[in-house]
Parts: sequence; C-alpha cells; structure tokens
Amino acid sequence: MSGRAQLMWDEAVTGYDFGRDHPMDPVRLALTRSLVGALGLDRDVNVVAAKAAGESTLRLVHREDYIDAVRAASADPGSADPSYGLGTIDDPAFAGMHEVSALIAGQSVGAAEAVWRGEALHAVNFAGGLHHAMPGAASGFCVYNDAALAIARLLELGAERVAYIDVDVHHGDGVQAAFWEDPRVLTISLHEHPRTLFPQTGWPEETGAASAEGSAVNVALPAGTGDAGWLRAFHAVVPELIAHFRPQVLVTQHGADTHFEDPLAHLAVSLDAQRAVQLACHELAHEHADGRWVALGGGGYAVVEVVPRSWSHLVAIAAGRPVEPTTPVPDEWRRQVYARTRESAPHRMTDGRWPVPWAAWDEGYDPADRLDQAILATRRAVFPLRGLLP
Ligand SMILES: [Zn+2]
Repeated sequence: MSGRAQLMWDEAVTGYDFGRDHPMDPVRLALTRSLVGALGLDRDVNVVAAKAAGESTLRLVHREDYIDAVRAASADPGSADPSYGLGTIDDPAFAGMHEVSALIAGQSVGAAEAVWRGEALHAVNFAGGLHHAMPGAASGFCVYNDAALAIARLLELGAERVAYIDVDVHHGDGVQAAFWEDPRVLTISLHEHPRTLFPQTGWPEETGAASAEGSAVNVALPAGTGDAGWLRAFHAVVPELIAHFRPQVLVTQHGADTHFEDPLAHLAVSLDAQRAVQLACHELAHEHADGRWVALGGGGYAVVEVVPRSWSHLVAIAAGRPVEPTTPVPDEWRRQVYARTRESAPHRMTDGRWPVPWAAWDEGYDPADRLDQAILATRRAVFPLRGLLP
C-alpha cells in the first residue's frame, strides 16, 4: 500500500460556475490549487485527474430522469426544469453543467477507488463535497452528489462499513438521504441548527430508517458556536461512534463555511479549529480504518480569506506534511490573489487561535448550556441505538 496521498485535480473543475453574483465562485478552487502549489505540497502528493463519472456510476445514487434533466439543462440552459431544482436561484443552469458536475463526481469516485484498491492511503478532492444534491434533484449549489457517489462506489467494490463525517456548516442532507435505509453507511453531520439555516433538516431525531436505525447522526449546533464549542461537540460525538462502527473507509467533508468570516452562515469557527478537525479526522482514519481516508471540500464562501488556506491545510495533512499555522502565506500567491480578485490575501496560515483550547465531554457537562444541550440531544437520540451509553 502506497503511503503517498493523491490529490484529485483537473483544471476543468473550475468550470463549475453558476455565474457572476453566485456565492460559489470557482476562483476558490483555482486559488486553493495554486496555494497548494505555492506551499510546495506538490512534492508530497500524486496529482491525479480522474475521468468524469459515467452514466452507470451516476445511477448508483441519481435517478435516470434527473440525470436526463441535467443533460437537457446543460445542452440548453434556457430549458432547465425547476421541478428538478435546475434553473433556480441556488442552482442556475449553465452550458456544460452536466459534464463538469460529472467530472467533479469522477474525482471523488476516483479518490474512493484509489483508496479502496490501496493505490493511495489518503485521497483529497477539495472540488467535491457537494452534499446537498438529492437522488432526483439539484439543491443548495449541488448538482451531482459526489460524496454519496464515492460511498456508493465503495459499497459496489465490496465495502461493508463506510463512515461519513460532514463538518460543513450546512446539514449533509443529500448524503444522509442516499443511505437513509442502508446500515452499511454511518453518516454523521455537525452543522448549524436547522432552525436558523438551510436546508432546515439535520435534527438530532433524524437517526435513519427502521432498517438502519442509528446510522444517521446529527449534531445541530446553536448559531454563534465558536472554536471551543465546535471542537467539544465533535469530540463528544464522533470518535466514540467511529471506534464502535469500525469503518473500512472514512469519507469526510470539510466545508469551510463554519468560519466566522463566512457570509452565508452563523457559526464562529476559525481556520485553526478547522485544521484541528482535519487532523482529528486523519487520526480517526488511522486508528479505525487502517488509514483509508477520502477527504472532500464542500461549502465555503469567503473565497479568498478562508477557503484556500483551509483546504491547503487539508491537503498538507493528507500528504503527511502538515503546514504549521504560523507559516507565512507565500508572497507569490498573495500577488496572484490580488491580480485575480483585487482583494488582499491573508498573511499567515492561521487566524491566530492555535492551539485551540476545548473541554472534553467526559470531564462533565452543564445541562443549562445550549451547546451541551445540543450534544446531549444527539447522544440521547442515537447512542442507545448503537449500543452506546448516551
Ligand atoms: Zn455548506
């Protein structure tokens, strides 16, 4: 088994572009790729462009009539059918939409295949993590659900237990829906509470269908949750479930929109806490999944200030060469950012919060605290279903 990590990248993924004024600006992908290069990380990964996901792969998750609708909207954006979520404000149709969405999905499927076959121990597709796409509809800036497709491909290849951890600020609803009835897949999502954020799902009581009770886990965090609370919640819920489930592969989604600078949501997490969770996911993969780790991007709309640094840390961790938070952001990259966006890039690979302090759950909790109430709600709803103490 190769120890080298794979970075999935095809320049053409930057064609995933809903147009001017849409918050998901593909410059975030281009700038992440160039920061990875500027930090010298290309030496420590194999950069691989996988082929686009074909019809039979897309069909592992998506309905045939939906794929046809995406193809039609892709060929003629004016004819997009809003009953499939296409041609909407969140998911405007654009020429080539099918092809580039399938290409992004192909990178995540390729990452899963490489990890399953032992060609790479870890594989990263930061263009992926499009977790809102449903089997039969586009939703929340997501056309094809590359995360669900990667997991479905692992099952097709023979995996019996796959764990999915989603730390995007939004609920990982599409991935949860795809495996709602499948006990082979444990989905865990930590997100801002559905009362205050799209997609208004991800309540602790959502725990999976009767055939797969306890296979969906949701931690609904109060708006305003910061670094200490976010890390406390992650560690109060995730490691115990992963240790007990013993996944053969860990798939993680690292939406960077939990950040305090993010314009679309209301958590207050720093880059440093995001990095701490990336490190924790890496460790969980080694402790419980023989190191098999597929790491994906996701949301993130502070496209200069946050996303490139967050996902460069992710690539570096997968590459086995974590970037120290105090590392200066390379000047050549800062110049490029200014040239492309007329925005001034951050100076360091940190928000100055490292190391991030947090308090462990098993040292006690406060039933009157809103964060602890959220953690308790999740543990009470799902831990007993998995044979664990709440
Ligand atoms: Zn998100």
